[in-house]
Amino acid sequence: MEKEVLPLIIVGGGPAGLTAGIYSCRFGIKSLLIAPFGGGLAASVDRIENFPGFPEEINGMDLVNRMREQAEKFGLEIVNGQVSQIGVEGGLFRVIGDDHYLSRAIIIATGAEPKQLGVPGEEKFRGKGVSYCATCDGPFFKGKKVTVVGGGDSALQEALYLSQIAQEVILVHRREQFRGSSYLGEKVRANPKITLRLNSVITEIRGEERVREISIKATDTGKVERISSDGVFIYAGIKPNSEIVKELVELDPQGAIITDEQMRTSHEGIFACGDVRASDFRQVVTACADGAVAARSAYLFLNPEK
Ligand code: NAP
Repeated sequence: MEKEVLPLIIVGGGPAGLTAGIYSCRFGIKSLLIAPFGGGLAASVDRIENFPGFPEEINGMDLVNRMREQAEKFGLEIVNGQVSQIGVEGGLFRVIGDDHYLSRAIIIATGAEPKQLGVPGEEKFRGKGVSYCATCDGPFFKGKKVTVVGGGDSALQEALYLSQIAQEVILVHRREQFRGSSYLGEKVRANPKITLRLNSVITEIRGEERVREISIKATDTGKVERISSDGVFIYAGIKPNSEIVKELVELDPQGAIITDEQMRTSHEGIFACGDVRASDFRQVVTACADGAVAARSAYLFLNPEK
C-alpha cells in the first residue's frame, strides 16, 4: 500500500529542527520530524550562557530536551532515525531512512559535525584521547593535562569548561587573535589553568595505547616542540551535514546549503535552517530563528492562498 503523503517532514532534531516543529504545528501543519536521538551540537555543550531567558545558564541537553517537550506538546511527531536519502517523485519528496515517507515539503535542519584537523595520530587515537566533545569526554581527564585546538567560540568555551576538570589546559591556536567572542577570549586569557600556545599548530599526536604527547609547530619560526598531553580536544570548525540534499539544492564551497532570508533553498519545497545553512553567524538563538522562519515559509508554500 502506498504511503500517506505528509504535508511536511523536518529532518534534524537540534534547536533549528525542533523550533521549526513548534512553529509548523502551531501553523496547523501535520509535521513529522526525523532525527537520531542526540539533539545536535548544541546538546553536547555543558553550559549555554547566551540563550536569552536563562540568566543562570542552561545545560545544552536540557535546553534541547525542553524544546522537544514543547514541540511534542504542540503535536510534533518525532521519529528516532537517520535519513539516508531524499528523492523527488512527481512533485513529492520521498524521504528514505529506516522507513520511507512521502511529503510535499521538507525542512533540512541536519546541523553540522566537527571538522577534523587531518594530522597524523588524530584518527588512530580518536576515542583514545582525541575527542571532539569536551562535555562527553572531559570527565575522563580529571587532574590530567589536555590540549584544546582552535580559536573559535567552541575552543574557547570548551577550554574554560575543561579547566574546571583538568589540571592544565593548553590552548593551541594558529593565530594571535581569537575568532571567538571577546567575552570568552578575555575569560580564557585570565584563566590561570589555561596556557596559551598562539601562532602554533599541532603537527602530530602520539602515544601508545592512548595519547601521551603532541608536536606543535610555531607558524612564524617553524620551530617544532614536543609537549606531553593526555588528551586533545579538537575545535577546528564545523562541516555542514548536507550530504542527503547535495544533488538537489545549491551548496556553498564549504558544503552549506544556500538559502534566501525566508530559508528557501534553490529547490522549491525544500527549506533549510540552522548550522547546515550557509551563514557567518551560527548560534543556538539564530538556529531557532531560522527554524521559525523556515516553518512559516513551508506554511506559505503549502498554502499559497494565504
Ligand atoms: P569556528 O568559529 O569556525 O572556529 C574554528 C577555529 O578553528 C578557528 O579559530 C580556526 O582558526 C581554527 N582552525 C580551523 N581549521 C584549522 C586547522 N586546520 N588547524 C588549526 N586551527 C584551525 O568554529 P567553532 O568554534 O566550532 O564555532 C562554530 C560556530 O558555532 C561559530 O559560528 C560559533 O560562533 C558558534 N558557536 C557559538 C558559541 C557561543 O556563542 N557560545 C559556542 C560555540 C560555537 P582561524 O581563526 O585562524 O580561522
